Amino acid sequence: MSDDGKEKIISVCPVCPHHCRLAEGALGRCRARANRNGNVVSVNYGKVTSIALDPIEKKPLAFFLPGSKVLSVGSFGCNLSCPFCQNHDIAQAGEKDIPEVYTVTPEKILSIALDEVASGNIGVAYTYNEALVGYEFVRDTAKLVHENGLKNVLVTNGCCELPVLEKILPYIDAMNIDLKGFRPEIYEKLGGDLETVKNFIRRSTEESLIEITSLIVPGLNDSPEDMEEEAKWIASIDPDIPLHITRYFPRFRYREPATDIRLMHELRSIAEKHLNRVLLGNI
Ligand code: SF4
Repeated sequence: MSDDGKEKIISVCPVCPHHCRLAEGALGRCRARANRNGNVVSVNYGKVTSIALDPIEKKPLAFFLPGSKVLSVGSFGCNLSCPFCQNHDIAQAGEKDIPEVYTVTPEKILSIALDEVASGNIGVAYTYNEALVGYEFVRDTAKLVHENGLKNVLVTNGCCELPVLEKILPYIDAMNIDLKGFRPEIYEKLGGDLETVKNFIRRSTEESLIEITSLIVPGLNDSPEDMEEEAKWIASIDPDIPLHITRYFPRFRYREPATDIRLMHELRSIAEKHLNRVLLGNI
């Protein structure tokens, strides 16, 4: 009940395991969704904060059209709260925190993507912030992109409920999914849920080409035992799934020194006992 005695209408967001309960007008934890007239909708629809033609290897994707480029588009907001976020200025932010936000339509993104084909562009990547907190724009744009013969790439933390994944999966050709650790406590610290991410990865491999990235953060997820368990689990789905083990550098609120290079090589050796395609990144 609100102060004026009227009953408050709460709507629950179905997109991620936070299931934010939002009163009319309230923003969710990700700052990208809000309760508008009783429906939880994306407030970052068509709001672009970053756009660039990137090498596909930067997503990172090592085994999907290598040597190509992809028009990479990002908005604002994220449902996790990683203290070492590399894109915190747009991911850990709402619209009011960002100096320049451009409003575009899916048709405009398609038109830019088509213009860049001559420069090696293969399609559109939804990246930089967490794309699925605004899955409606991904869905609408990706559908158009496919209808026009281009590819779609999704870069995601995978902390998203399966019914939302089903809405975009038919249009996504390749994904890079973060696996931020292999113990539930790690995800609790970051505001996520390990089982949700595992379910997301399992389902995605059935329809799309996927590669996985684990950023090795000192003091969080850098134990060899965890890597052994993670690699075994990935291999139980498919030992050919590529795993990118990437090196952390101090960012945002996390000040531990960069990941030890010897540890990076040790973790790769452990992962290679179970997986056929293990790559080190940021080395
Ligand atoms: S997507 Fe955003 S609003 Fe929806 S449950 Fe997750 S954090 Fe909350």
